[in-house]
Amino acid sequence: VLALARKYRPKTFADVAVQSHVSTTLKGAIARGRVAHGYLLCGPRGVGKTTLARVLAMALNCERHLESGEPCGECGSCRRIWSGAASLDVVEIDAASNRGVDDARDLRERAMYAPSGDRQYKVYIVDEAHMLTREAWNALLKILEEPPPRVVFVFATTEPQKIAQSAAPVLSRLQRFDFKRIGPAEIRERLSHVLSSEGISAEAEALAALARAADGSMRDALSLADQVLAMGDGRVTAARVREALGLIPEDEYLAVLDLIADRRAADVFPVVARLAESGIDFGGFLVGLAEMIRAQLAVALGGTTGDLSDRARDALIAGRDRFAAADLLRMLSVIGELEPRFRRSGQQQLLVEILLVRFALLDRSIEIEDILRSLGGQGAPPAGGGRGAARSERHAPAAAGPSGMRSESATEARNAPSTDARSEGSGAARSMDAASGRAMSAAPAAASLRADSMRESLREPPPDRARVETIVDGGSALRVQAPARSAPLDLNQVVGQWEVVAERLRAAGKPLLATALEHSSPVAVTARGDVTIELNEPNDFFERAVVDGARDVVAALREWFAGVERVQLRRDERVASAPRRLTDEMVRAERLASLGKRDPVLRAAIDALDLDVAD
Ligand SMILES: [Zn+2]
Repeated sequence: VLALARKYRPKTFADVAVQSHVSTTLKGAIARGRVAHGYLLCGPRGVGKTTLARVLAMALNCERHLESGEPCGECGSCRRIWSGAASLDVVEIDAASNRGVDDARDLRERAMYAPSGDRQYKVYIVDEAHMLTREAWNALLKILEEPPPRVVFVFATTEPQKIAQSAAPVLSRLQRFDFKRIGPAEIRERLSHVLSSEGISAEAEALAALARAADGSMRDALSLADQVLAMGDGRVTAARVREALGLIPEDEYLAVLDLIADRRAADVFPVVARLAESGIDFGGFLVGLAEMIRAQLAVALGGTTGDLSDRARDALIAGRDRFAAADLLRMLSVIGELEPRFRRSGQQQLLVEILLVRFALLDRSIEIEDILRSLGGQGAPPAGGGRGAARSERHAPAAAGPSGMRSESATEARNAPSTDARSEGSGAARSMDAASGRAMSAAPAAASLRADSMRESLREPPPDRARVETIVDGGSALRVQAPARSAPLDLNQVVGQWEVVAERLRAAGKPLLATALEHSSPVAVTARGDVTIELNEPNDFFERAVVDGARDVVAALREWFAGVERVQLRRDERVASAPRRLTDEMVRAERLASLGKRDPVLRAAIDALDLDVAD
C-alpha cells in the first residue's frame, strides 16, 4: 500500500493549491520561457517545497510541453520524476548528508554536463540547503555566476536566515519564494478529499484533531492519517485518532478548567498524577491546555471556538462567566513563558502541578473589579504611580545626594516598620530576602503584584518606604519584602526584583526587551548607580535589545531602585566576536565575487586555486 502522502503527491502546479502564490508564478515563468537558474524555496517543514520543486522539474521536462506551463503528469518523463525514479535530468540532494566541499565540487563537475536531450533541463533539487557548508556555497556561487544553459537549481530550506549568514552573495542570485504555513482548515479539507478518494469516511472531529496534530504540515497530516488507518479498517473516528496519536481527551482539559475555576488547588495533584500514569506527554498537555483556555477566551469575547467538539463548546459556553478575559489572557501568557523552559526541564510533571496550582490560586481580575465596585467605582491609580510620587517627595534629595546620605536613609528605610509588614507578621517578611522572589515566574507574580498594590492603595495610604508584595508561587503565598526604593543599590535586591522588572517592561509594551532581561542577570552594581547585566547565553537579538533599551531598563529599575543611573551590558567575548566574524567573511565573499567579475585573470586564478577568501 502506498503511503497517502506519496500516493496523493501533487502532479501539477494547480494541485499545489495552498501555495498558489508560488505555483502560479512558477507556472507562468515556464509558460513564458523565463525560468531562472536558481530558486530558493523557504518555509516550514511539510508545506510542499520539494513537492513544488518536483512539479517544476516535471514541467520543464514534460514531453508534451503544454502551453499552460503545467506538466502533463502522464508522459514518461513526468511519471519518472513524479515517482522519484532515477532520472538523468533531476538530481535530488539532501544537503544534510552531503555537506562537504567534495560534494560541492562533484556537483559543479556534474552540472557542466549538458542535460540528456536538446529540450531537456537538468534540475538540481537541494533539500535542507541551510546545511550546506560555506565551501559548498562558494562552489555553487561560481556556477550561478555563469550558469550553464538549461540547468536549474532549486534550494529548499526551513532556515533561510542561516543561508543569509553563510552565503549572502548566493542569495542575491536566487529567486526567493516564501511558502505559507498550512492552516488547519486547509489541512482538514485536503484530508477529507484524500480519505473520501480512498472510500473512507471520517468524523469532522477526527479530521480536526489530525489537522491540529499536524501543526501546519500537510505531509505530517497525511502520515498521521496513515497511522490511524493502520489501526484497522472502517470509519476514522475521533476516538481512534486520539488513541493513535496518544492525544488527551477534551474532557481532561475541561476538568482542569473546572478545577481552576473552582479554586480546587488540592485536586491538582491527583489529576496530574492520573495523567502521568496514563503516560501522557506533558508538553502536549500544555499545548492542549493552552488551546482550551484560548477557546474559553474566545467564548468570553463572543468569538468562535474553532475545532472543538460540540460537547466541549457547550461546556465552555455554559461556563463562560467563570473567568474574566483578562485572567484567561494571563494564563495564556504564563503558559507561553513557561514553554521554552518546560521543554528542557526534567521535571515536567512538577512544573505542570505548580502551574495548575498557581492558576487555581491566581488573584482574579473579576474580584478586583468587585472591590472597585464596592468602593463606588473609584478608579485605581496605575500601579506604582501614587506611591512613587509620595516617596520621591521625601527622598528625592537623598537619592540624588552622595552615597553616604543615601545609605543613611536606607538604614532608616530598612528599620522603619511597614504598616503591612506589621499587620502580616513582619518577622516572616523580613527573614525572607528579596532574592527568594527569584524563583517566582514573572507573569503571575507581576499580575498578583498589580492586583495587590491596587488593593493596598485602596485600603489605606500606601506604605511609605517599604512595600510588601504577595507572590503566589507553587501554592504557597510568600510574603516578600520589596527593597526600599531609596536604598543604595544592592545586587541581591536587584537580582530579586529582576523578573518583576522584566514583567513591568512587558506590560509597558516591550516584550522583546522583557524577554532579553529574562535571559540575562544583573552581575554587578556600583554606588554610582551602574547596573551591569550579562546575558545568560550569547544571543545577538537579546544583546541588541538590551543595548537599545538600556534607557527603558533604567526607568523600570528606578521604580524600585531610585539610585539607578546607568545600565550596561557586559559582553561575553563569544557574544561580541561571533557576529563580527561572520560579517567579515560575508563582506570578503562579496568582495571576492565582485573582484572576480571585474578581473577575468583574477577570476581564473580564484577558480584554479578554488580560493575561499581572497586575502
Ligand atoms: Zn509530461
